[in-house]
Amino acid sequence: MDDWKLPWEGGCRCGKVRLRVTKPPLLAMACHCTGCQSMSARAYSLSLAIPADGFEIVQGETMLGGLNKDMHHFCRDCMTWMFTRPLGIDWFVNLRPTMLDDHAWFAPYIETFTAEKLPWAETPARHSFEAFPDMAGYQPLVEAYAREGARPAK
Ligand SMILES: [Zn+2]
Ligand SMILES: [Zn+2]
Repeated sequence: MDDWKLPWEGGCRCGKVRLRVTKPPLLAMACHCTGCQSMSARAYSLSLAIPADGFEIVQGETMLGGLNKDMHHFCRDCMTWMFTRPLGIDWFVNLRPTMLDDHAWFAPYIETFTAEKLPWAETPARHSFEAFPDMAGYQPLVEAYAREGARPAK
């Protein structure tokens, strides 16, 4: 059943920070909120929720930044916004999927905060939410993503 082709390797733009993913992702997301627009310097941010015990930094060190300074991790040198450890949640990490050496397979499964999106910003997400889904709404999404989420081709 595990057709995720794990483990995955990845790193920041300059290569000083390297990471490894050893467990299947829980959910693939695009967020259109204005905070993500500012942080990512683009129309929306991308996230791949990885179980925390399946995610490790294998080289280099990150520094904290962003608005909620305790959760957003950046490379100290190239300042790439690499991943987020949501405050008060210790069981998953939101990795920016473009950190993965092979991320051509990535596609957002849900999109959030469409109420704030740029008028032309479209994604292939199967499920759209004006803000975040409520907490009870996540479990069915995680189960559906495990069945039908986009996977690495090789
Ligand atoms: Zn770097
Ligand atoms: Zn956002």
